[in-house]
Amino acid sequence: MGLEEKLPNGILLTSVEKLVNWTRKASLWPATFGLACCAIEMMTSGGPRYDLGRFGMEVFRASPRQADLMIVAGRVSNKMAPVLRQVYDQMPEPRWVLAMGVCASGGMFNNYAIVQGVDHIVPVDMYLPGCPPRPEMLIDAILKLHAKIMDEPLGPKRAALRAERGERTELVASSVKYGPQESPGPSGSGKSAVVEARDQ
Ligand code: SF4
Repeated sequence: MGLEEKLPNGILLTSVEKLVNWTRKASLWPATFGLACCAIEMMTSGGPRYDLGRFGMEVFRASPRQADLMIVAGRVSNKMAPVLRQVYDQMPEPRWVLAMGVCASGGMFNNYAIVQGVDHIVPVDMYLPGCPPRPEMLIDAILKLHAKIMDEPLGPKRAALRAERGERTELVASSVKYGPQESPGPSGSGKSAVVEARDQ
């Protein structure tokens, strides 16, 4: 007979991992980071009609040091890329990134000014396509992120899992390192478009 069957009603057993993950997913605080048109839908999600407060998320923090979720709402320009990376670096671990809209998720404006997906700059935990995604879609992506957080291991196991996925978790100076430097840029110089734009 298992331990659960011997306990009287009203006693709940869980693991520390599940309890910690539950507290994390139930109190995600987003960093204020609206970049373009998608940000209007993100702001609407926090209003009374959609009420992100139901998930403990109504407070968009003005300081990245008090935030653990970066919703990248809109296209990222090359000029904005180091700023985005700096804000990410200033967020404490554990932290998550949600790429909102097709611009942040992979890019549809393929030109010299725009980064083709925010995953060139920071590791992304959840992609949300659409142009723009409606608030219901953002809330759906947040709920899926909640489910993902509930399944995450803690501590060194989490770091190992992220390293296995190729996600960078170390702090780096945003002025020195961001973007996939190994991929060839449009000019064939061996630098990414982001790095080339920065160097110009
Ligand atoms: S995905 Fe559409 S709505 Fe969102 S930033 Fe890009 S163009 Fe604007």
